[in-house]
Amino acid sequence: MNKRDYYEILGVPRNASIEEIKSAYRKLAMKYHPDRNPGNKEAEEKFKEATEAYEVLSDPEKRQRYDQYGHEGLRSGYDYHTYTSIDDIFSAFSDIFGGFGGSIFDEFFGTGTRSRRTRQVNIGERGSDLKIRLLLTLEEIATGTEKVIKLKKYIVCDVCNGSGAKAGSGYRTCPTCNGTGEIRHVSRSFFGQFINITSCSTCGGSGKVVAEKCPKCNGEGRTQGEETITIKIPAGVEDGNYIPLTGKGNAGKRGGPAGDLIVVIEEKKHEYFYRNKDDVYYELLISFPEAVLGTKIEIPTLYGKETIKIEPGTQPGTRIKLSGKGIPHLNQYGKGDQIVIVNVYVPTNLNSKEKALLKELSQSPNIKPKDSDSKSKDFFSKIKEVLS
Ligand SMILES: [Zn+2]
Ligand SMILES: [Zn+2]
Repeated sequence: MNKRDYYEILGVPRNASIEEIKSAYRKLAMKYHPDRNPGNKEAEEKFKEATEAYEVLSDPEKRQRYDQYGHEGLRSGYDYHTYTSIDDIFSAFSDIFGGFGGSIFDEFFGTGTRSRRTRQVNIGERGSDLKIRLLLTLEEIATGTEKVIKLKKYIVCDVCNGSGAKAGSGYRTCPTCNGTGEIRHVSRSFFGQFINITSCSTCGGSGKVVAEKCPKCNGEGRTQGEETITIKIPAGVEDGNYIPLTGKGNAGKRGGPAGDLIVVIEEKKHEYFYRNKDDVYYELLISFPEAVLGTKIEIPTLYGKETIKIEPGTQPGTRIKLSGKGIPHLNQYGKGDQIVIVNVYVPTNLNSKEKALLKELSQSPNIKPKDSDSKSKDFFSKIKEVLS
């Protein structure tokens, strides 16, 4: 299915500011919100589409990738999030709607259909996401690899097992929210005046706090530590791709869920291969006699050595394609190619004997270009290639 352009969906220009994007999204979200259009599938689709567009365009990094590569750029990067339900959307966008899961809409439209967060004793706070960069060689990218890293981060406290409570101390009513688990604010906004309910941050919405704190973590339920993590990298990744590892980020507070670990791929510059998409380019220098007489030469590929044939009369700039010796396509069958660009070496430090030989050879009738050769017949196609 062809996806619509995100800017088109939100009806904003490509250079729109973040405020314009937010405002355009709010308007669409109000119009197509499912509570306003009960049972209307089309409205729900429009709502999801706008939300997806907003999710990308409001994130500078994703927006840049989208501007550069379009939908494909987001897909190959692993960071593509498909929303499965409306509740999903609200939990991800609580910042612009304020508070948790859709509370603005409940208050504003007075429908109250969205389910409230279930009260649980001692619900914790989610840990933050961590981001690391992983430097890979082209050879590792070609085959796919596995990396073991040691990561400094918050880990679950091993004394209280994350609860933050001293063994056997129990709970008492949260002093911040008086046990309701909610904080109510009346505020004015774009939509008019409404009551915004947020979850109490002291008790994480549970209404209760531990009576006595765990001595090791001081009630946080987590401590600073280290974790050894194995990261599997599929073949064909490229610079800027990222792999999210759910739950491998910082441990949450008071037993809350852990954040994610985002592994950003960085490609190490290769000594002699140049990558262009999934093709790799390699320059092969041969001597003048080799170019004239032809030869067989062993060259490196990402998958070991390979012998290639140089035809007699090979011209500088000739390209030899080694099919399937490039980088595997990410999440697809097939591989790119290795392109060998042949260049002819012009020696610069000959001794007198070599010079004499060349001088003699230069008088030979077939050594100099003839008038008919002097304007290369494929000059136009060659210059086009260089300029493209
Ligand atoms: Zn503890
Ligand atoms: Zn509270």
